[in-house]
Order: sequence, then C-alpha cells, then structure tokens
Amino acid sequence: MKQFQYVRPANQQSVLAAIAQPGTKIIAGGSNLVDLMKHGVMAPDKLVDINKLPLRNISGISNGLHIGALALNSQVAEDQQVKTKFPLLSQALNAGASAQLRNMATVGGNMMQRTRCPYFYDTAMPCNKRAPGTGCGAKEGFNRMHAIFGFSDKCIAVHPSDMCVALAALDATVLIQGKKGVRKLKFTDFHRLPGVTPELDNNLAKDELITGLEIPNNNFAQHSYYLKVRDRASYAFALISVAAALDIHNGIIKDARLAMGGVAHKPWRLTAAEQLLKGKPATVANFEQAAQVAMQGAKAFKDNAFKLKMAPASITEALTHAAGLA
Ligand code: SF4
Repeated sequence: MKQFQYVRPANQQSVLAAIAQPGTKIIAGGSNLVDLMKHGVMAPDKLVDINKLPLRNISGISNGLHIGALALNSQVAEDQQVKTKFPLLSQALNAGASAQLRNMATVGGNMMQRTRCPYFYDTAMPCNKRAPGTGCGAKEGFNRMHAIFGFSDKCIAVHPSDMCVALAALDATVLIQGKKGVRKLKFTDFHRLPGVTPELDNNLAKDELITGLEIPNNNFAQHSYYLKVRDRASYAFALISVAAALDIHNGIIKDARLAMGGVAHKPWRLTAAEQLLKGKPATVANFEQAAQVAMQGAKAFKDNAFKLKMAPASITEALTHAAGLA
C-alpha cells in the first residue's frame, strides 16, 4: 500500500480546508476505502478522518427525521424513530453487509461506497471507472452481477448499497456542506449514471462534505418491505433488491414508492410503476402489472439475463409483502 498522511481535524472548517487539497480522501468507518487502498484501486496522499465532527445525531425535525452523516449503519437500523416511522430504512440497513461492518460503516460512507465489480478491484484488468479510457472488462467478461438499466458503453456496474435503495424510495434529501455554505440535493440526484464519465459515482464535488440526510414524513410505515435476493443469506450483495412502500386506504393504493438495487449504477427508482399503482386496488394482479411496467427498457448481458425474470418477480413479491397479502 502506498504511504499516506493522516489528519484528524477537530472541526468542519478544518475538514473543508483539508479536502480542498489535491490527493486527499475523507475516511470515516473506512469499511470500503481501506479495502480499496489495500488493493491499490485508490491511493490517496492524505486521509482526512472526520470522526471528530459532531455528525452522529439522529433527531426529529418539523417535517421528518434528520440523520447525521456519521451515524453508524447499526445505530440507524436500531433507532426507535427510524423503526417506527421508516421501517423500510431499518430493514434495508439490516439486509446489508455483516453486523461487524454495520457497526463501523457510516451513513455518509454507505452513500460513497464504490461498486463491487470485480474488474474494478483487479488492477491488472481494464476498467473505465478505475482508469478512464482503459475499457470495460465486465462488458465482454463475467457480468452476472451487473446492470440491466441505465448502463453505458463505458460501464455496466451497479451500485452496491441497500440503504441507498430505501432512501431513494423514501425521497430523502442529502445535506452537503461546501465552502460557500450548505446545499440540499434530492437523494435520487446524488448518484450518477455512468454515461461517458463512469469514474464519477455521484454529484458530490471534491471539496464538499456530506453532513446528513433528511427524510420527510410519510404514510408508508404500515405497508413497506425491503426484499433482497442474494447468493447467500448474509454478507452478500444484492442480485436484485426492491424497496416497496404503499399508502393503502380501504384496499386502494393512495400512494406508492418503489426502488430497485442491483440493477443500475445508482438506486433505480420505478416511477412509472408507482404511477400505475396509484388509485388501484392493492391486489397481486396489479402488482404484477406494475412489475411489467417497471421492466420496460431493461437489457441483459451474457451472464445476467436471469435478472430480467428475477426483477419483476421480486417487485411483485415485495409489493405483496408490503400490502400484507403474502
Ligand atoms: Fe470497470 Fe464499470 Fe466495466 Fe466494472 S463495469 S469493469 S467498474 S468500467
């Protein structure tokens, strides 16, 4: 591993000054970054440890819940307010990684984690995300875990997070501190599709810091479900995941939220399926129809055609659980 400097600033201003320097990277839990450094995929000159910043708080706000960027995944998953108001988020967090990793990983770090495409981690292989212009090893290689939506000629990787799929469905907002002040970004606008710049995972500028999230109140707590399909029951990334949330009154769907993981370079929100469900009875037949609509435009590669069947089946199953019809 390349030698690097390590600093642990005591306040936000010092963090912002430090990350403005070239070659710096923020570290919090380090559960992905340290692996990347060991593999030689990332080689920062300086690590800026932000663990001294007071960003671990989870607190109610007038229109919802605020979660600090340094709140641990396990802390958020077990928080009583989260479990009561946003059980979808708690379920998604508990579906991710292992207990040990959830005790180290932070909310901000979870958002910033990088794809687990094996070609990205193997520095002997071509990868446009790790080394722009070298090609994409996965496109003609082994691509069982890869995207079926939103990919480009340059990159077909998927975002690995479970938490982010739930936050996309819950219409969260990201709070970002820069030198000029705070800006707010819709969670669904935070991560990027690969396009011609697959090296960019998200829309955070180099000199900006994620300070927290806001999740607006909703009426989905009674009818939400996070489904994760994976190769083994724990400590595996999603082949397909679905965050489903319904607001049901007298059997009729007043509102719906759906997002998928394991299918695209960012959490994949299923807005056309949501629209189809609104005003319809909460029945399995309608869920199947929504799943078909959600799959429009999907395209598979050599090894991941199974996702074209698994994804709609997973959407239907998640909605069926969310509606209490399972
Ligand atoms: Fe790299 Fe993306 Fe291709 Fe994987 S899919 S090899 S991350 S460019």
